Amino acid sequence: MDFSIDPESRRRLEEARAWGREAMRPAGIEADRMGAPLPVDHAYFKRFVERGGGRTRWAGPDGKAERGPRASVVTTLLLSEELAYWDRGITVADPGPGLPEASVLGLGTEEQKERFLGPFLDLDRPRWACFAMTEPGAGSDAAAIQTQARRDGDGWILNGAKCFIGGASRADWILVQATVDPTKGRGGQRSFFVEQGTPGLGDFKIEKKMGLKAYESTSFRLEDCRVPAENLLGGEPRHEQKAGFKRAMATFNAGRPVIAANAVGIGRAALDEALAFAREHELLGRDRIRDRLEAMTRKLRMARLLCLRAGQLADAERPNVVEASTSKAMAATVGMEAATLGMELIGLVGVRGDHLIEKLYRDVKAMDIVEGTGQIQRMIVARSLVQLPR
Ligand SMILES: Cc1cc2nc3c(=O)[nH]c(=O)nc-3n(C[C@H](O)[C@H](O)[C@H](O)COP(=O)(O)OP(=O)(O)OC[C@H]3O[C@@H](n4cnc5c(N)ncnc54)[C@H](O)[C@@H]3O)c2cc1C
Repeated sequence: MDFSIDPESRRRLEEARAWGREAMRPAGIEADRMGAPLPVDHAYFKRFVERGGGRTRWAGPDGKAERGPRASVVTTLLLSEELAYWDRGITVADPGPGLPEASVLGLGTEEQKERFLGPFLDLDRPRWACFAMTEPGAGSDAAAIQTQARRDGDGWILNGAKCFIGGASRADWILVQATVDPTKGRGGQRSFFVEQGTPGLGDFKIEKKMGLKAYESTSFRLEDCRVPAENLLGGEPRHEQKAGFKRAMATFNAGRPVIAANAVGIGRAALDEALAFAREHELLGRDRIRDRLEAMTRKLRMARLLCLRAGQLADAERPNVVEASTSKAMAATVGMEAATLGMELIGLVGVRGDHLIEKLYRDVKAMDIVEGTGQIQRMIVARSLVQLPR
């Protein structure tokens, strides 16, 4: 397996490292100490946008927008690890079309790309978009969502409640997953663009989180919220394209390895901090401590290799679902173990709550929850062992 990267990817990685050290980590610590997401007018976001961040991958209506070469999945994973090393909460807080962009690129009509991704071509200000699937009664079991979409003349009426949605109150638009027929499970679901300010969209409440405080995770309600027919992602049935996109999504998974890489990045940061603490407090002379640090280094390297393998298969457009789930299940566990080791080493210093390791300890847990919990990943792998549908 060759995981070497080209000089341009290496340059991007070095740039990410410098930006992470200089801007991301301080911003993440600031949010953590405030116990609240960075405000939309924070200088960090302005700088992020000024240096070219937050742009869409869409090439524009004439296909000519300057975007540079698209990074391979392997490069994306290395970048994701590096950015999470500096601050994973900030990577999610960063402006941009975020999670729903891939769905809009894969399924959106040309008119939808222009309307919803167009403002992200050249940012005049920090802008966000977000994807809303989770509901108070539907997390792992996405087929159970209850938000209803009802056809009404030339539009749709949405009713329901969503929770833990990243960036919902600051997003220009939210891609809302709703059901047109709850008896059909996933088959009855559709995605709708709901623009901020649409009557009936409201009751935003920022959730209290143990970690990753830099970005908002928000609950909201949709009450007789009317959107035009053109806001149905992909428009009226275009079954072939949708089936093709869904098939691709079921075969390659690039999302889980990204979260796995995030977990490796957080774990690596915790290990570096633990090592620095042990050095500073002259603990490295003890075999037991050295052994634990060595074991952790080994496990983090193993987790990184699993992520990269999943990414390499995705780059080669080969099925990677088992590798993606394995990397996510493994890396989240290893990341949590690294942060736990750090907490044990620093002892009471960690309990006081003002050491970076303590923040990483609170941040890393979410890597075991988002994009499918550890249990769900292990279930996917186990089912594939006995050739059951995933
Ligand atoms: C920080 C953070 C950010 C998030 N951001 C977003 C976002 O932007 N958009 C969005 O839509 N959602 C978001 N979520 C929600 C996330 O996707 C859900 O939390 C996740 O899907 C798990 O759902 P749940 O919390 O309802 O747990 P549940 O599904 O209720 O699960 C509870 C427990 O039961 C286990 N479990 C469930 N089913 C099974 C099973 N069949 N077999 C074995 N064990 C099972 C789970 O592993 C878990 O341990 C976010 C969550 C967090 C923590």
